[in-house]
Amino acid sequence: MIEMKDVTKKYPNGVLAVNGISVNIKQGEFVYVVGPSGAGKSTFIKMMYREEKPSSGSITINGIDLTKLKEKKVPYLRRNIGVVFQDFKLLPRLSVFENIAYALEVIEENPRNIKKRVLEVLDLVRLKHKARFLPDELSGGEQQRVSIARSIVNSPGLMIADEPTGNLDPETSWEIMNIFEEINNRGTTIIMATHNREIVNKIKKRVIAIESGKIARDEVRGEYGYEI
Ligand code: ADP
Ligand code: ADP
Repeated sequence: MIEMKDVTKKYPNGVLAVNGISVNIKQGEFVYVVGPSGAGKSTFIKMMYREEKPSSGSITINGIDLTKLKEKKVPYLRRNIGVVFQDFKLLPRLSVFENIAYALEVIEENPRNIKKRVLEVLDLVRLKHKARFLPDELSGGEQQRVSIARSIVNSPGLMIADEPTGNLDPETSWEIMNIFEEINNRGTTIIMATHNREIVNKIKKRVIAIESGKIARDEVRGEYGYEI
C-alpha cells in the first residue's frame, strides 16, 4: 500500500529531518513508529499524507506517486487517509456530531447518509450519547475518540496517528488502543508514531524505529527499545 524509496527531507532551514528511508507497508498492517524526539518521526509520517513533500526519493500510496501529485489532487488523497493528532484538532464551535459530519458535507454526501454514517462511527467510539456536546464539554479521552471517529468517517484505507495518546492518562490511552485495534481488524492500515513504551511492549506490532532520519530497526513484533 505504501512504498517509500530513498526518501529524504531537508527543511528550508537546512535541517535534514529524513535521510534516506526506504520502506514498504502492506494493506492492513499496524505499525508503530518510535524513536527519540527530533529523530524525524513526524516528518516521516507527514510525507505520507502530503503535509510535507520529500526533497528526493519517491512515495507511492495505492499506486499514486505522491511526489508527482498535483496540489489540486491532494484533497482526494486525504479522503482515503484519516489523520489523528495528539491535540485532537476539533473545531471548538461545532458539536461532536458536526465535527464528524463536516468531512462528509464537504464531499456533498446526502444528509440522510451523513446522519447514518456519523452515528455509526460515534457508536464505534462509544459516544453516541454525546453527539450534541461541544468539544470542551468532553474529557481528553472523549475528544480523542471524536477525532478518531472523524478520521474514519470516510472509511479510509489508511489511518495515521501522531502521538495519539500523548495527552492522555494510561487508562484512557488503553481505551484508545482498543478502538485502534478494532479499526485495524476491519482492514484499515494504521501507522502510529508514539512514545508510549507500555503500549508498544504490550500490544505487539511491527515497530519501525527512526534515529537521525534513518530507519534504525524494523521488526515484525518489535519492542519500544528506549528508556523514555
Ligand atoms: P520527531 O517527530 O521524531 O520528534 P520531527 O520530524 O518533528 O521529529 O523533526 C525532525 C527534525 O526536523 C528536528 O530536528 C526538527 O527540529 C526539524 N523540523 C521539524 N519540522 C521542521 C520544520 N517545519 N522546519 C524546520 N525544521 C523542522
Ligand atoms: P476522564 O476521566 O475521562 O478524563 P473527566 O473526569 O474529565 O473524564 O470527565 C468525566 C465526565 O464528565 C466525562 O464524561 C465528561 O464528558 C464530563 N465532563 C468533563 N468536563 C466537562 C465540562 N466542562 N462540561 C460538561 N461535561 C464535562
